[in-house]
Amino acid sequence: MTARRRPPCSGLWETPTVHVSGDLTTCCLDDHLRNRLGNLAESTLPELWYGDRIHRWRMAQIEGRFDDSGPHCNRCHWQAAGSYPPDRVREYLERTSVPGAAGRARDSQDEDPNST
Ligand code: SF4
Repeated sequence: MTARRRPPCSGLWETPTVHVSGDLTTCCLDDHLRNRLGNLAESTLPELWYGDRIHRWRMAQIEGRFDDSGPHCNRCHWQAAGSYPPDRVREYLERTSVPGAAGRARDSQDEDPNST
């Protein structure tokens, strides 16, 4: 798989979306719940929103492996939520104690078309 040059989508951090069924997904673009994280009748929002599955998707986007991120993200033209800012990426990597965080954050900043 080839890494693509595009910044991570802020939807994976900022737009948890709940369907009327209680199913939680990553954003309002996911009508068909391809990015379903679970159901709020069975798990809490923090358990799902800070769980292992979405962490793996976030890391895949940070590292440019969009094929490994949310199944709907791979099909998305990524126009709704915008890029997750490099300083927030850096904070996330530091908070989740990911080895090599500083280098990844720097790379992400280099790739951000919105940064000046
Ligand atoms: S990449 Fe698309 S589908 Fe994935 S969280 Fe962002 S807006 Fe939603």
